[in-house]
Amino acid sequence: MKREKSTQLFAEAQHYIPGGVNSPVRAFKSVGGNPVYIAKGEGSRIFDVDGNSYIDYIGSWGPLILGHAHPRVLAAITEVAALGTSFGAPTERETEMAKLVCEIVPSVEVVRMVNSGTEATMSALRLARGYTRRNKIMKFEGCYHGHADSLLIKAGSGVATLGLPDSPGVPEGTAHNTITVPYNDLESVKLAFEAFGDDLAAVIVEPIGGNMGVVPPQPGFLEGLREITEKHGTLLIFDEVMTGFRVALGGAQELYGITPDLTTMGKVIGGGLPVGAYGGKREIMQQVAPAGPIYQAGTLSGNPLAMAAGLTTLQELSKPGTYERLEKMSARLAEGLADNAKKLGIPHTLNRVGSMVCLFFTETPVINYETAKTSDLERFSAYFSHLLEEGIMIPPSQFEGMFVSLAHTDEDIERTIEASYHAMKKAFE
Ligand code: PMP
Repeated sequence: MKREKSTQLFAEAQHYIPGGVNSPVRAFKSVGGNPVYIAKGEGSRIFDVDGNSYIDYIGSWGPLILGHAHPRVLAAITEVAALGTSFGAPTERETEMAKLVCEIVPSVEVVRMVNSGTEATMSALRLARGYTRRNKIMKFEGCYHGHADSLLIKAGSGVATLGLPDSPGVPEGTAHNTITVPYNDLESVKLAFEAFGDDLAAVIVEPIGGNMGVVPPQPGFLEGLREITEKHGTLLIFDEVMTGFRVALGGAQELYGITPDLTTMGKVIGGGLPVGAYGGKREIMQQVAPAGPIYQAGTLSGNPLAMAAGLTTLQELSKPGTYERLEKMSARLAEGLADNAKKLGIPHTLNRVGSMVCLFFTETPVINYETAKTSDLERFSAYFSHLLEEGIMIPPSQFEGMFVSLAHTDEDIERTIEASYHAMKKAFE
């Protein structure tokens, strides 16, 4: 495939934008090569500026569960835009959105709209700290919750450790208030609670790991977190920015039947526009300004266009049969990918929950970040590049899952499985 125009555009962008991109993973750094510049999307496909087309499994990193340029979403945005794009005053649609989210997400009684997943988790943590009057938080290695200081922390050495800054610019003092433990490891969680329990404001977790590839919670893990947090008066925050409205209409909490104290949302809730949200128990949420003293605000929060896109997306998802169809197609995709690897004798582990699908090139069961890192990253890069040549766009990193959307057709899935066979064969030659 020729991608001359993409190459040119990327060269120019690097003069004006750090690394040429507005979010790091877009730069294709971990797989090599230049990013593909997109001209348009339609259903399951994206088209680049050089005229190539791809079946897309990035879906804008999760939001586009209905596919690209969904006609109803576009119509809703256009209709609302004609009335004005932002007022900084309340509109009816915001209550409609809040009401729908409260109906759909089991644990959410009151919800506040923000503009990104990062804002949602950052605000939820402030709320947890203000509500409990405690300082420390616990997170899990390999989970990503956006780029707020307290969450941009890597594990120190040992099983349950005080965190270290993961980026220049994050103060050590901030890092020290974040305890990082391995995912799916309740023993380490217990040790950390013995050491820091009295000062732990919150445990924040991706109920299905989606930022170290796809890593499902092991049976008992989320239940164990619920139990220990309750015992210690620590809030349990489910970061459902990725899983919300994706693995089930009510997110992972519906799928696994666990009730967190707070939930953070993003991606699907905005239908492709910039939206995040955090919500939960009324008693806790009432501490947020202006109802309570804990401050959080936003010039564009609850933006009319974003609410229109999000509401329409959630309404479409509420129709009967949605998640059954996603499940059926995703199961077929996962089965096809794993079969290919088996036929070719390639070491692999296939993890999937609903429409989050991830193929690792390792035989080690992937249950946390350590085991995710056993995947053969060089082969992954080659596999990614060969797939791209076959017209299949998967995330340019082993540590991200593929997202299946309702716009993918059975033919798309079969074509992808066939292409993946060729790509794997070449990558492992
Ligand atoms: N939480 C999770 C689980 C995420 O996957 C992400 C983004 N990938 C975020 C938070 C941050 O969201 P945003 O990029 O919208 O700030």
